Amino acid sequence: MGKDRQPSVVIAGGGIGGLSAALGLARAGCRVTVLEQAEQFGEIGAGIQIGPNAFHALDYLGVGPEARAVAVYIDRLVMMDGRSGDEIAGIPVDDVFRTRFGNPYAVVHRADLHGVLLNACRASPSVMLVNRQRVVGYENTPDGAQARTQGGEIFAGDAVVGCDGVRSKIREQITGGDPLRLSGHVAYRAVLPIEDMPRDLRWNAATLWAGPKCHMVHYPLQGWKTFNLVATFVTSVENVGSNEPGTREEVLSRFGDIVPRARKLLEIPTEWRRWVLADRDPIENWTDGRVTLLGDAAHPTHQYFAQGACMAMEDAVCLADRVGNSGGDFHSAFLSYQENRIVRTYRVVLSSRMLGRFYHAEGVERRIRNSILGAKTPEEFYNGLQWLYSGTGLAA
Ligand SMILES: Cc1cc2nc3c(=O)[nH]c(=O)nc-3n(C[C@H](O)[C@H](O)[C@H](O)COP(=O)(O)OP(=O)(O)OC[C@H]3O[C@@H](n4cnc5c(N)ncnc54)[C@H](O)[C@@H]3O)c2cc1C
Repeated sequence: MGKDRQPSVVIAGGGIGGLSAALGLARAGCRVTVLEQAEQFGEIGAGIQIGPNAFHALDYLGVGPEARAVAVYIDRLVMMDGRSGDEIAGIPVDDVFRTRFGNPYAVVHRADLHGVLLNACRASPSVMLVNRQRVVGYENTPDGAQARTQGGEIFAGDAVVGCDGVRSKIREQITGGDPLRLSGHVAYRAVLPIEDMPRDLRWNAATLWAGPKCHMVHYPLQGWKTFNLVATFVTSVENVGSNEPGTREEVLSRFGDIVPRARKLLEIPTEWRRWVLADRDPIENWTDGRVTLLGDAAHPTHQYFAQGACMAMEDAVCLADRVGNSGGDFHSAFLSYQENRIVRTYRVVLSSRMLGRFYHAEGVERRIRNSILGAKTPEEFYNGLQWLYSGTGLAA
């Protein structure tokens, strides 16, 4: 930063976004305190897909090799028609893909990825991790900003970054409480031991079975020891929360029109956890003085592009770059960061909404979807994804 005094930043939330931000800001010369509401820093037991753009970010944050070591490198992204059982489209993510985008497409257990970021934070003398601290608000002060916790403690610094997820308290204060947009979709997640996965579906692919008003996704995890399974469907019941137990019967009742080969997968898990899916409409501003937002707190999205966490990691790169070049002017750095991120991240949010409709299509819409995707060559898919996968978080 080029200043005598080391600037300090308080981060609310120690998820993938918060820890990425901590690493990036430490790299930019800041002292960082991460406040996490949970008993321990950790992640839920489920998988995550990460595109080449996430690896660009992980490299910048200094943990690329560690992240690569816990990832599974799939060969293809496959879309199956759940009604007919036919393959609609397959995108190879092979050497040609890797060469084009400069990094692989991979799948990883969330706890493993979070663990890589956590280890790096623990090893950094500039990062302090504080658990059991639920942030309830912030204040801009004459010479900095501070976060207030439920227990009444104040954590002061030069700036505050809200990485506190889709129900962010920091965002609530910045925006005055813009509404959460419930999608009417619910996702059920399970992780299967590899031996429980039917042999004929043990594909080295991120596979999506698209059905009427429902879809399911599976891919291998943890060095092929487990398989991740996510079943998503449209529901009128909108009052479910996050990470709640769900039942096999609930899932099966929504996948009655799916071919038995795929449906039988849903009978296997002994434990399901369910999430109500929500995002928010784009806003023009997510910064207030020396306080800004990052990751789901700034631009929560549906998972249909598999990019929410990737965007959070990219945000961290951009934030660190802008802060590092700001000479200590956090307000200007945050405005520049926000300006740089707003179009790209909200493009993901709005595109994900459209993809949800595509995945759940029925009738003529399903036929249109199949005909559009089925006609595309790998090269055409790559061209369409260029804007996304070549991003680093640094360019506008
Ligand atoms: C079913 C599903 C599948 C997904 N698949 C993918 C995928 O394949 N690829 C991908 O890139 N993304 C995926 N996502 C999106 C991804 O999970 C999120 O975008 C990502 O976790 C956002 O990270 P974050 O750190 O911003 O927020 P979060 O992960 O929500 O982390 C927020 C952290 O802040 C803490 N916190 C919350 N409130 C407070 C508070 N007031 N004070 C202190 N701490 C607080 C929380 O405990 C948590 O640790 C998926 C999401 C879902 C629901």
